[in-house]
Amino acid sequence: MKHTLDRLRRPLRDLRISVTDRCNFRCVYCMPKQVFGSDYQFLERSEILQFEEITRLARIFRGLGVEKIRLTGGEPLVRRNVEQLIAQLSAIPGLDLTLTTNGSLLERKAAVLAGAGLKRVTVSLDALEDATFKRMNDVDFPVAKVLAGIDAAAAAGLVPVKVNMVVKRGMNEKDILPMARRFRGTGHILRFIEYMDVGHTNGWRMDDVVTARDIVEAIGREFPLEPADPNYAGEVAQRWRYRDGGGEIGVIASVTQAFCRDCTRIRLSTEGKLYTCLFATAGHDLRAPLRGGADDAALRDTVAGVWTARADRYSEIRSSHTARLEKIEMSYIGG
Ligand code: SF4
Repeated sequence: MKHTLDRLRRPLRDLRISVTDRCNFRCVYCMPKQVFGSDYQFLERSEILQFEEITRLARIFRGLGVEKIRLTGGEPLVRRNVEQLIAQLSAIPGLDLTLTTNGSLLERKAAVLAGAGLKRVTVSLDALEDATFKRMNDVDFPVAKVLAGIDAAAAAGLVPVKVNMVVKRGMNEKDILPMARRFRGTGHILRFIEYMDVGHTNGWRMDDVVTARDIVEAIGREFPLEPADPNYAGEVAQRWRYRDGGGEIGVIASVTQAFCRDCTRIRLSTEGKLYTCLFATAGHDLRAPLRGGADDAALRDTVAGVWTARADRYSEIRSSHTARLEKIEMSYIGG
């Protein structure tokens, strides 16, 4: 079915919805505990979009060409009864519904999420060694809890499970090969993410970036790799296949190999703001018209107007100056 925005160089295909700004982790690259401490002011319940509001907006986005919805956060599984939202969203025809989680609650929730209509999950895991894992995420439980969540997701049919590892020099680059060995031949897809200057609180420096090229070379020395074609236009991760049939990995090279040219992603924040880039400094409020009586046509025109006017290409223009901009936090808008 043709959509009005399909004529654009970058059609609207991928909606990321942050269902909460809260999280039970404090990842150094996303939600440093120095900033997100016990006195941090999170959004009030009355401020955040209700499931019915999210579902109404999702239908409008679907009508504009969105094919995939990814639920994010903070940590989406800390939002109470999130499976009810998933059930509402999975009733929208033609939607690929997925979710990104830190995996800590997945063992308990996987079957319920799959039962509600979730198709797949992406689990963030930055190390296999407990000390590094706890240091990077500021948690007091072992990696085994997240690995059990991954197993439960696979058992519930939420496959292939994608495992995202953010690599930060001086913290976990020594875990690249142990992670590759752990997930090779499992059917899960391990993706390595270059450490990014998301938000404005993680103290990002280019020196702390381990490049995609370094990562692929490090793995290729032990397990020869060959490039694989993207699954679809605008796919974020570059795919690499193990030559011996051991499956594939992905690398997300936002810092060293920008992919803004094919970016078809838009983000909806927990309280209903629209962001056209992960590195945005400002958004467009949809909650006021949504709660102010606007009809679907008016909301659709607003979204179409925002998307049509979009000129984001942050990763192509990244510099030491842009790194210091007051960009929105990833813990607020999701990856
Ligand atoms: S930097 Fe912004 S425009 Fe570029 S790929 Fe990321 S989200 Fe898209």
